[in-house]
Amino acid sequence: MEQDLKELLQSHGLKATPQRLIVLEYLIKHQTHPTAEQIHEDLENISLATVYNTLDKLVDSELVIAINDGSKRRYDYYGEPHYHVVNKTTGEIMNVDNFDFRPLMEAARKASGLNITGYKVEIYGVED
Ligand SMILES: [Zn+2]
Repeated sequence: MEQDLKELLQSHGLKATPQRLIVLEYLIKHQTHPTAEQIHEDLENISLATVYNTLDKLVDSELVIAINDGSKRRYDYYGEPHYHVVNKTTGEIMNVDNFDFRPLMEAARKASGLNITGYKVEIYGVED
């Protein structure tokens, strides 16, 4: 696992520092969209400032995305593309991967002339 994570970081242009390895591994294992504070509480040896700095680097590399649930910034491992359904009643964010976004990517490529490198989709709903 550790070697794979080192390669994953390096392939996204980041040096594999111990903090990056620990935070990335945490996000891969906890697909619950934690906040920086939650990550810091679980990883007691890393200061909150370091958690924030590490998350910023991981977000820059596009391995991790930041999601705003309306009140807090949450973090998510994004090595496997998926979309989010946000329950506005509870604030829960679900990972869902049951939809083929390739036609949308193709339409975006045609419209923009760009090489499309990724997507972020958030769908919102409330409970009855
Ligand atoms: Zn997610």
